[in-house]
Amino acid sequence: MNKDKIWLSSPHMGGSEQKFVNEAFEQNWIAPLGPNVNGFEEDIKKYLNSSPLGGGQEGAEGASVAALSSGTAALHLALVMLGVKAGDEVLCQSMTFAASANPIAYLGATPIFIDSEEETLNLCPRHLKRAIEDRVSKGKKPKAIIAVHLYGMPYKVDEINAVAAQFDIPVIEDAAEALGSTYKGQKCGTFSDYAILSFNGNKIITTSGGGALVTKNKATKDKAVFLATQARDAAPHYQHSEIGYNYRLSNISAGIGRGQMEVIDKRVSARREMHDFYVDLFSEIEGVMVHTAPNTDYFSNHWLSVVTLNKKKTAGIGREDLRLHLEALNIESRPLWKPMHLQPVFENAPFYGDLVAENLFENGLCLPSGSNLGPEEKDRIKAGILSCFKQQK
Ligand SMILES: *Cc1c(COP(=O)(O)O)cnc(C)c1O
Repeated sequence: MNKDKIWLSSPHMGGSEQKFVNEAFEQNWIAPLGPNVNGFEEDIKKYLNSSPLGGGQEGAEGASVAALSSGTAALHLALVMLGVKAGDEVLCQSMTFAASANPIAYLGATPIFIDSEEETLNLCPRHLKRAIEDRVSKGKKPKAIIAVHLYGMPYKVDEINAVAAQFDIPVIEDAAEALGSTYKGQKCGTFSDYAILSFNGNKIITTSGGGALVTKNKATKDKAVFLATQARDAAPHYQHSEIGYNYRLSNISAGIGRGQMEVIDKRVSARREMHDFYVDLFSEIEGVMVHTAPNTDYFSNHWLSVVTLNKKKTAGIGREDLRLHLEALNIESRPLWKPMHLQPVFENAPFYGDLVAENLFENGLCLPSGSNLGPEEKDRIKAGILSCFKQQK
């Protein structure tokens, strides 16, 4: 990688990753199973269950974790386990990465996209309810709701869960960007029967590529692992009664994950410091809002720091102006996710909402947020941003 470039979010090793990878080589566990896979699952499980509420209701077992080859695979399996089939409808947050919605299409089901609300940028409970009522009145009750903790900010968990409970529709929690975030003190990834995590190269921790399905108990985890390893029945020969997948995480990748789990708390702190850095920086600049938790119920890992520009107050400087200005300085920034209902591939999918996600896409920018950005990089980012806005006033 070009040393000079400041990336939006790049891998940040903690130091022990190679030790775990070497162990895999020494023990010849070069396979999609082995001690690192089991150890990584235990690490995540402990971490998720460490929040005061222990990942769920009193007396509950707490979260169980199946390590998989990607977050996308985890979402696919969650939908399979909820019985989603061709012709079904699944509700999904429109403002998200395409990976949240693609697995709906893998199953031949139809995504129904829902707008965001402005406080968390996530699924709007009001439009969600309206969409469910409308789909039910048309004769089809949606099979599941995919809600996303975008950029690490928890969605309105209580409100979304209340709507879901009212209509008895399961929620799949897309926590791909939110490992380390909490809502009312409880870790994201523990609010639903099925939640997914991602360890892609750009996420808060990485296994180079990987993901996990988080379930409420060991039995559902075992079922997920069964499906993820080609659904082999218990027989000496190869016997199959269900369609299976090849979705397990490699023991090499899991070794990287074990090293990363040793430093997860440090990574969360560093990302939150980047967010503080931007809050401080933009307090001097008119017309730019740093996306921040609505109140203390929401604790974001601030995987990415997000700003929105109000051109009327920035003397006409828009998100593309800022993005291109930074790009010329070799500093990467990116527009927010383009909403799914505006994507050519989903142009026929129904959408319930207004212009919240669309406006966020028009005016929002993700800024460099890596936990590995030091004082020198911060100085360059600060100078770059200030020089973009210097003609203001
Ligand atoms: C990264 C991401 C995924 C997919 O995870 P992969 O591990 O890349 O397959 C899903 N949803 C969201 C919101 C993501 O950011």
